[in-house]
Amino acid sequence: MTVTRWAIAALSLTLIVGGCGNATESSKSAPANSTVTVTAPATSEAPKAGDINANGTPDSSDKDWPGKMVATYEDATSPEAVTGRDLMRNDHLLEDLAEGINQSLKLPVDVPLIGKECGEANAFWSPSDKSMTICYEDAAEALKIYTDDGDADPRASAINSEIATFYHETGHMAIDLYQLPITGREEDVADQLAAYVLLTPGDDGKIDPASVQAVKDFAREFRGYSDSNGEIDEGQLADTHSLDKTRMYNLECWVYGADPVGNADLVSDGALPQDRAEGCQDEYEKLSDAWSSLLGPYFK
Ligand SMILES: [Zn+2]
Repeated sequence: MTVTRWAIAALSLTLIVGGCGNATESSKSAPANSTVTVTAPATSEAPKAGDINANGTPDSSDKDWPGKMVATYEDATSPEAVTGRDLMRNDHLLEDLAEGINQSLKLPVDVPLIGKECGEANAFWSPSDKSMTICYEDAAEALKIYTDDGDADPRASAINSEIATFYHETGHMAIDLYQLPITGREEDVADQLAAYVLLTPGDDGKIDPASVQAVKDFAREFRGYSDSNGEIDEGQLADTHSLDKTRMYNLECWVYGADPVGNADLVSDGALPQDRAEGCQDEYEKLSDAWSSLLGPYFK
């Protein structure tokens, strides 16, 4: 991928899927009894905007936030977990994603990024542990979805969906670590952050085509979930996440809105209805402006 503000140049890879976005799961929050083998970060008061060292005022020393994101891969035993672990680890996925964060965001504490066998396809930010977990089963499920869909390169698409999933979780992380104000449902806001990260132009002023594809693949995964989940029930309607197809259309809208000319195919091929498409440029600009403003004090 090209260099964006998030310095994800290291991601010359194919990527992922997951948890916090899968409507088949009743909860995307961290299980209370989750255990991790990584060192727990020291607790820290979230600073005010710009006041990174929490000395009461934003100043030049605030560039010295001490935290880093640290990737680890735990053991895997089930076939699904082994599949997902190998997919992620062989691509150095978590290491590269962590490096991208460390090059771009100030962190008040060390943040473990944990690949692990969870017993279900999921991904989550833990506000209590200040850690992010990407379950191996999440990548394995993505691989199955794209394989069943006849994808020409299901592994690349699965990696892409996990990249987008990671940035969705990064949205939860940022909201929590920086105590960002949000309106609207946090799950939708986290999807917006994923789109914002992946669709922000690089230094050359262009949006990275590989990142656009990652958002498109993420959207396609939600279509797969929708197809496999059957009739929409009350549980899905009441869920903290928007319906799978709503999330799919949102992501497609933001891809189109970020570059209506470059991504005109989304409308011409019928994927994104014209009625929705008409407002997408404005919709994307608003979410991009909002995230730029919210994260401004925390960029390195
Ligand atoms: Zn989420």
